[in-house]
Amino acid sequence: MSERLDTILAAARDHATDVVAPNVDTWNAAKAWPRNASDKAGAAGLTGLYAPEEFGGQGLPLSDGIQVYEQLGLGDGAYAFALSMHNICTYAGCGYGTDAFKDAWARNLTSGRKLANFALTEPQSGSDPMKMYTRATINGDGTWTISGAKAWVSLAGEADIYFTVVKTRDAPGHKDMAMIAIPADAAGISFGPMYDTPSYNFLPMSEMYLDNVVVSEDNIILPVGQGFQGSLMAIDIARVSIASGCCGLMQAALDTALSYSKNRKMFGGKNLDLDGIQWMLGGVATDLEASRLLYRKAAAALGTPEGPLMAAHAKRFVPDAAVKAANTCTQVLGGMGLLQPYGLDRLSRLAQMLRIVDGTTEISRVVIGRALQKRAAGLPDLPVPKGFGEMEEDTDPIAAE
Ligand SMILES: Cc1cc2nc3c(=O)[nH]c(=O)nc-3n(C[C@H](O)[C@H](O)[C@H](O)COP(=O)(O)OP(=O)(O)OC[C@H]3O[C@@H](n4cnc5c(N)ncnc54)[C@H](O)[C@@H]3O)c2cc1C
Repeated sequence: MSERLDTILAAARDHATDVVAPNVDTWNAAKAWPRNASDKAGAAGLTGLYAPEEFGGQGLPLSDGIQVYEQLGLGDGAYAFALSMHNICTYAGCGYGTDAFKDAWARNLTSGRKLANFALTEPQSGSDPMKMYTRATINGDGTWTISGAKAWVSLAGEADIYFTVVKTRDAPGHKDMAMIAIPADAAGISFGPMYDTPSYNFLPMSEMYLDNVVVSEDNIILPVGQGFQGSLMAIDIARVSIASGCCGLMQAALDTALSYSKNRKMFGGKNLDLDGIQWMLGGVATDLEASRLLYRKAAAALGTPEGPLMAAHAKRFVPDAAVKAANTCTQVLGGMGLLQPYGLDRLSRLAQMLRIVDGTTEISRVVIGRALQKRAAGLPDLPVPKGFGEMEEDTDPIAAE
């Protein structure tokens, strides 16, 4: 492990244990993003992980930087998720933004003084982004006028800039999509009522409305034709980041269960002395090791042809393992596992949220299923008995009904 990575992982762990974990319940009750905390994350180098050093970033490769969320996930999975989205936008802006954009925003983003988020989802298009309609019209002077509505925008009203995916034509398809960074203070941008998410209410989320918002062409991050592919790459990074954050969550759940069960007296010994309890927690520990290996392999594959499939494997497996881990650890504490101070109920809700965001478990299965179909096409044919391989029209039971 490089010295730089060591340092940043230690900073992330300190941030999670000193700043996030002790305060997350208070933040939740206040229903407000802890800007002081994200300022501290910025000062600790956690808001410019993949951005080049010339812009104040850490210059880490994706495969290294993504491990930061495992540390942040020890504190809170939703907080880790929000910083991961900021880092992905910062990476895109510093890598693909115009020189004018970089001059205006790069250092503000890498330092965490300004926060960014990604706006792709729309009310009618979640799993199926091809159904999005937010529309940008390119004006004669090069400016863009954007109208539409985005949904599930994290850091809504809190971020300073929104990396927004738009269509530039009415025709269906993705070839006309682009990504443009819309500053929060642009005229015509507004937000709907905040969603009520009891376990992570400190992360503001709502719909975002764009009513003839005019943005300079300096803010084009991905030009027409590259918006969709670029978004898919961003989502792959996000999927692996979520898997990394889930490992922190699983570790936090496991450690809570161990810390309790080693002291809970029963049947003349301790809860942790029971074989059944050891087997339950042993299963969590194995799932955690497997999850770590998987997300790190997926992180190393990002940017290669294997990246999307490996990201789907990680996003399919790890949040499911995290849900199971949080529930198992709750069970180990018995009734106490349900009570607020232990935080396990919150971990269960967070893990479930992480199954949904940035591509659900089912969408990951779709990606994996398509890869399996491709693999099957390249395999030798095994003979299929007559009647098993073909459906003759007159024997099709559905057609016959
Ligand atoms: C906490 C949180 C934060 C978010 N933050 C952001 C953000 O900052 N920016 C942003 O752009 N988006 C954000 N999202 C949106 C998120 O990415 C979407 O919620 C997600 O893509 C799923 O879309 P949906 O909620 O519309 O579900 P739907 O698309 O309506 O899916 C409903 C159900 O159908 C299933 N399904 C869909 N297709 C298939 C299929 N082919 N086969 C089997 N089942 C299928 C899904 O898995 C799901 O179970 C956020 C979501 C959450 C929960």
